[in-house]
Amino acid sequence: MRFLVALLFAGLAFAQADYDLLLKGGWVIDPKNKLNAVRDVAIAGGKIAAVEADIPASRARRVVDARGLYVTPGVIDIHVHVYAGTGERNSYAGDNSVYPDGFTFRVGVTTVADAGGAGWRNFEDFKSRIIDRSQTRVLAFLNIVGHGMRGGRYEQDLSDMEVGPTVETAKKYKGLIVGIKSAHYAGPEWAPFERGEEAARQAGIPFMVDFGSNRPERPLYDLLNKVFRPGDIYTHMYSGLRGEQDPVTKGPSQALIDGRKRGVLFDVGHGGGSFVWRLAVPLMKAGFAPDTISTDLHIGSMNSGMKDMLNVMSKFLNLGMSLEDVILRSTWNPARAIQHEELGHLTPGAVADVAVFRLEKGQFGFLDSNNARLRGTQKLTCELTIKGGRPVWDLNGIAYEDWDKLPPDYGPQSAVPTQRKQP
Ligand SMILES: [Zn+2]
Repeated sequence: MRFLVALLFAGLAFAQADYDLLLKGGWVIDPKNKLNAVRDVAIAGGKIAAVEADIPASRARRVVDARGLYVTPGVIDIHVHVYAGTGERNSYAGDNSVYPDGFTFRVGVTTVADAGGAGWRNFEDFKSRIIDRSQTRVLAFLNIVGHGMRGGRYEQDLSDMEVGPTVETAKKYKGLIVGIKSAHYAGPEWAPFERGEEAARQAGIPFMVDFGSNRPERPLYDLLNKVFRPGDIYTHMYSGLRGEQDPVTKGPSQALIDGRKRGVLFDVGHGGGSFVWRLAVPLMKAGFAPDTISTDLHIGSMNSGMKDMLNVMSKFLNLGMSLEDVILRSTWNPARAIQHEELGHLTPGAVADVAVFRLEKGQFGFLDSNNARLRGTQKLTCELTIKGGRPVWDLNGIAYEDWDKLPPDYGPQSAVPTQRKQP
C-alpha cells in the first residue's frame, strides 16, 4: 500500500517534468554540431530533447551532476569481431570473437560494426545469434568470402568470393550491412579486392580492406589509388606491414598521401598486430591522423596492447591529438563512414546514445601491438553510458540516488522511471 501511495506521488511529480534525464554542467563535445563548451543535455523518450546552456533541474525526473566530466555522443567502433557463439575454434566466426555487450558500454561504445566475420552464407546466423539479441547496436561489414572469417581454408578460396550473392545479401539487409570487407588474403591476385569493390559499388556501401599479405604483384599504391573509390576504408593504417610508411621520411608513403587526396578513408583497426608506435608516432607528427579510430576487438587484442576503445582513443590524446578530434574520429566520422548519419551526434531529435567521460591526469603507459611502450599523462575513463535514453553503464552510480535518501524499504531503482507524463 505504501508503495502504491509513493508511486502515485511520484506520478504526480513526473507529470510536471518535461525530461526523463538531465546531464547537468558537463563539458559537451559534439563535433558534428561544432559544440565544445559547458552545456546541459536533456533526454526524453529515448531521444536528445535539448542541449542548452542552462536547463532547470526541476524540468527533469532525474538529474545527473556532470560537472568536471565530458559529455559526448555514444562512441562508434567500426572494426570489431563479435560473431561469437558458433563454437568454431580458431575462427572469427567463432571462438576468436567476443560477445559485444561485455566490451562496449563500459567504454562508452553504443554502436559497433563487425568487420567481416560473416559472409553471405552465414550472415543470417550472425544476425540471429548476435545482432538480434545484443543491447549494443551491432552492424556489419559483409565479407566478400561467402563463409566469412572462418580461417585460412575458407579465406583463401577464390571460388567462394562471389559478387552476386554478396550484393543480394547486402541489399536485403541494407542498414545492418554497412560495408563489404576483404581480409587476410595471402595470394598475389587482385580478384578478392576487385570483387569486393564491385560488390560494394553495386550495394552502394563502402569497401573496407585488411590488405592481407604484402605482395609485390599488388602494391598498396594501386589498391588505394586504382581499385578503391572515395569513401572506401583502409584499415590497419599504422601496421607497417604493407608499405604504409615512407622508408626515407618515416612519414606516410605516397600511397597513403595520394589515397587521402582522392577521398579514401583511413581507419586505425588496432588489433593484435596492426598498431606500432614506430609508425603511429612519425605519421601523426607528419599530420597523417586517422579518419576513424577503431579497435579490431577480438580475444587476442583485448588482452594485449589494444585493450579497449578508450585505451586506443587515449593513445591518440597522448600523441597530441586534441580531445575534440579524438571524439570526432570516434563518433561523427565513423557514423558518416558507415552511412549512419542519424548516429554520432547530440542534435535534438537524435537517438540518445551518450557517453560521459573523465579525463584522468597521471603517469600512464600504452603498449603497441609489439609490446613497445609509450608513456603518457592522459587517460579517458567512462563514467556513464546511455543507450537510447537509458543508462547502460554507470561506474560510480552518478545517475542514481544515495541509498539512505531512499525509502527504508526501497526496491530496484531505475534511472529513467518508466512512468510517462500524463496525457
Ligand atoms: Zn579485424
